[in-house]
Amino acid sequence: MGKVFLIGAGPGDPELMTLKAARALGTADVVLVDELVNRGCLAHARSDARIIEVGKRGGCKSTPQEFIERLLVQYSKQGKTVARLKGGDPFVFGRGGEEIEKLNSFGIEVEVIPGITAGIGVPATLGIPVTHRRVARGVTFVTGHAKDGGEPNWEALAASGTTLVIYMGLRRLNEIALALRKAGLPEKTPACAIENGTLKHQRCVVSPLGALQKDVYREQLGSPTIVIVGEVVRFAKVPAAMPKARAA
Ligand code: SAH
Repeated sequence: MGKVFLIGAGPGDPELMTLKAARALGTADVVLVDELVNRGCLAHARSDARIIEVGKRGGCKSTPQEFIERLLVQYSKQGKTVARLKGGDPFVFGRGGEEIEKLNSFGIEVEVIPGITAGIGVPATLGIPVTHRRVARGVTFVTGHAKDGGEPNWEALAASGTTLVIYMGLRRLNEIALALRKAGLPEKTPACAIENGTLKHQRCVVSPLGALQKDVYREQLGSPTIVIVGEVVRFAKVPAAMPKARAA
């Protein structure tokens, strides 16, 4: 039996991958890599490693999850060392939990190597601290896209006083912003949307919650984009080279 490394590649910039991730990647015979992972991360893979792209992005064609899991099992059973490379952290909206369950059911050894999740690493590029003693006593990671059509409890989130970090929220940004305002967040609540965070072509829009969707639409932000809502966004410092931003 081989072994699977479930590796978080970090939010984009290959330098944000951990040393441990780089070292594990360098031992792999086979690398299964998600679309969000920057190709620069593969510099740490062996030159003779088999690289398999298993792209997956909201709304686009993707490799079915069962197929990916079958590949992981198949290669491990052949005695190979397999690296499963995922964007950010493998356990934050990354289906790492499902993959581990599957591998465990076959008795395959798995080692998880955490990564910097986009929800922390991306706001950090603008100097936004996701928690702050005076401003936000916590942070909530939430997905804006639920396969079952289910909604988070927006009232509870609005009342929580924590920073809200919304993954996969771009397509439903209008509904999400309306739901949050209906749930009691003032229209002026500072908010921002950051596209391609930590990469050279990163862009962002900083706008009050009431105007965020309109401004994001105007700037045509695309995937991947993360949305941050809460007082901590007041700390955002947008580099002059980055596209338009409005004061929160
Ligand atoms: N496991 C990943 C998240 C996967 S879900 C992690 O821990 O970061 C994919 C969502 O993450 C995207 O829709 C987007 O909301 C967010 N995301 C990932 N990388 C991003 C980046 N570089 N910039 C902005 N958002 C990003």
